[in-house]
Amino acid sequence: MPVTAKQATRREFLNRLRSAPVPQSGVPDRAIRPPWAHHIDTQCTACGDCAPACPEGIIGLDHNQYPVVDFSKGECTFCAACVDACPEDVFDTTQEPAWQLDIAVGNTCFAEKGIYCRSCGDSCPESAIRIPPQLGGRARVIIDEEACTKCGACLSACPADAISITPQKEYSHE
Ligand code: SF4
Ligand code: SF4
Ligand code: SF4
Repeated sequence: MPVTAKQATRREFLNRLRSAPVPQSGVPDRAIRPPWAHHIDTQCTACGDCAPACPEGIIGLDHNQYPVVDFSKGECTFCAACVDACPEDVFDTTQEPAWQLDIAVGNTCFAEKGIYCRSCGDSCPESAIRIPPQLGGRARVIIDEEACTKCGACLSACPADAISITPQKEYSHE
């Protein structure tokens, strides 16, 4: 029986899925995947097309060629170029928030040590960071979790490497 175009496309897709490296279950995955990539573990074929599509250059590929976001290279502007570049059903922009991430400020923060610094607050496009002064010349960085989109702009702006953004535990395949 002749193979229809639809069958050929499906066969091609399944072949690519079979040849793609699949994350081993039980292996901790603490990587940050691109925004809205809610079905990376079931739909991503590791084609890598989303990486060069990112105008901010923050998407790289892990050792299995799956896309991974590196906020040390810049911020996500939520432009959705990665979504548009993906030929599979990896992304779902109807699901918000775009990703399930935690943000934290560590103890290397200059402001908290009494050294004047407002870099993270100045870089935040959502005005989600307040740095109220405390006693003794120190200041405290407070992030409004509701307003924060986890875009990562503050991470690369911080001269003390004090900000970390990590996948929430229940979404990290651990
Ligand atoms: S939404 Fe845009 S800026 Fe963000 S990771 Fe995707 S391509 Fe890059
Ligand atoms: S473009 Fe889509 S299928 Fe290809 S690596 Fe990126 S998320 Fe995976
Ligand atoms: S990650 Fe959150 S706090 Fe940091 S710049 Fe983006 S919106 Fe602001």
